[in-house]
Amino acid sequence: MTDPFGRSIDYLRISVTDRCNERCLYCMPEGYKGWAKRTDHLTAAQLIAVARAASRLGFTKFRLTGGEPLLRDDLLEIAQGIGALENLHSLGLSTNGTRLAPLAAALAAAGVRSANISLDALDPVAYRRITGGRLDEVLAGIDAALAHGLFVKLNTVLMRGENEHELPALVRFASARRIPIRFIELMPLTRTDVLTPANFLSLPDTRAILESALGPLAPLPDYRAGHGPARYHEGRDLPGSRIGFIGALSEQDFCATCNKLRLTADGKLRPCLGRHGELDLAAALATGQLDAAITEAIAQKPEKHEFLENYAPDRPMTAIGG
Ligand code: SAM
Ligand code: SF4
Repeated sequence: MTDPFGRSIDYLRISVTDRCNERCLYCMPEGYKGWAKRTDHLTAAQLIAVARAASRLGFTKFRLTGGEPLLRDDLLEIAQGIGALENLHSLGLSTNGTRLAPLAAALAAAGVRSANISLDALDPVAYRRITGGRLDEVLAGIDAALAHGLFVKLNTVLMRGENEHELPALVRFASARRIPIRFIELMPLTRTDVLTPANFLSLPDTRAILESALGPLAPLPDYRAGHGPARYHEGRDLPGSRIGFIGALSEQDFCATCNKLRLTADGKLRPCLGRHGELDLAAALATGQLDAAITEAIAQKPEKHEFLENYAPDRPMTAIGG
């Protein structure tokens, strides 16, 4: 399907829960209590019905996210339902990795092909300060995902004063395992007070930090790892490394290649991460008119996000789906 700006929309990111067992500084600060009740979440059958309707309309790429998707008891059922869709090109998972080790085999068997695993630091103290979680669990999750044949990528959100000293080590870690790593600029999601000039670490500054520690990075304009907006580089002294940059704020043309819709855990289609508009699927789920609702959400996709226009988030990132 094509949106009003000529972009082909074929990627649905499905938030299966807004709950999380971590509380990353930039996503779900400690003490946050606004989670949807479990009964507010779409059921597995409803999530699969939305994915099936999207598939009929030409969507071929699906991602299970949250919140932390591995907290959901029926995640394997959801993965199996989506994994069985005709014309499926990819089914991925975004996870903090802390609960991945015991589940990686079953997820792979259920049809999940790739895992984007968040990793903001390799120092356990820094990791805990940023996420509230345990690094050893994440590292075990990465090992398990690789052992079970999942295509793994790492995601690192950039925060000055929190993890800029970790960035070269993260690249070496990823490169040693032949895993792409993506550095993501902080976005004003969840709370505006997190994105301050003191906290914000831009892509150009990140690149300078990496080059001074690791040597020059060469752009790989034709390399793609999945279906996201990252632009990849290779370290001259780290052959085979794949270092991606995602800069919603620094890159002028960030939205030009947007290919996705988001489905929130409580059943809203969200055309853009950085704009408030949402389309409630309650009526469409009741009547089965999901194709029309998805078509309408694509028609509502704006040209650009509003992050640079004093955007004030209306609901936390965990409730939208990263
Ligand atoms: N819990 C899973 C995880 O951490 O990967 C999946 C959901 S999380 C919301 C998805 C991605 O969004 C993660 O890579 C996370 O780092 C990123 N994210 C969350 N808040 C962000 C923010 N304010 N700016 C940039 N990225 C953010
Ligand atoms: Fe949880 Fe992921 Fe948000 Fe961190 S980024 S609080 S792990 S949903």
